[in-house]
Amino acid sequence: MNKKYITNNHLNDSHDHDLCIEDALQNAEVICRKKGLRFTKIRQKVLELIWGSHKPLGAYDILNTLRSEGTKAEPPTVYRALGFLIEAELVHRLDSLNAFIGCTDPSNSHQGQFLICRDCRSVTELGDDEILDLVQSKASDMGFSAIHQMLEIQGQCKSCRAPK
Ligand SMILES: [Zn+2]
Ligand SMILES: [Zn+2]
Ligand SMILES: [Zn+2]
Repeated sequence: MNKKYITNNHLNDSHDHDLCIEDALQNAEVICRKKGLRFTKIRQKVLELIWGSHKPLGAYDILNTLRSEGTKAEPPTVYRALGFLIEAELVHRLDSLNAFIGCTDPSNSHQGQFLICRDCRSVTELGDDEILDLVQSKASDMGFSAIHQMLEIQGQCKSCRAPK
C-alpha cells in the first residue's frame, strides 16, 4: 500500500471528500492493527473530525464538536486521543497554527513539508524526500544532526489564487 492515495487530491477543484475520510479511517485501522495499537471509539472519532476537511483543527474545535454531538468529552480526553494519533503517525501537529491535520501518507515517514493557505486555511502535505535529504545534508554540512523535519510553508493555494 504505497500509493499516495490522498495527497494533493483536494487541489483538484472537485473531489469526493467522503472518500478521503473513508480512506483515512480504513488506513488508520490497518496501521493500528499492524502496530498492535488499540483504535478506540474516541480515537476514531477524533481522527474522523480532523479529517472532516483539509483544514487543520484546533483541540478546542474538536472538543466543541464532540460536545455539540452529545459526547461528554473533557479536554484531557481530547488531548490523550490527539497524543495517540500523533504517536501512531496518523495526524500531524502544525506548530505555526497550533492545530492538527490528518496525515495523507501515514504508512510512510512522518516528516515533511506542509503548504498552508493563509486565505482558506487548507493544508497540503508534500512529503518530498528530496527536500528532506537536502535539508539533512545541508544540516550535516554544519555538523548538525537533523532528527525531525516539519516544514510549514505559508501562502495562497491554487483555488484561492484563481480569479473569482
Ligand atoms: Zn478530501
Ligand atoms: Zn504525513
Ligand atoms: Zn486557499
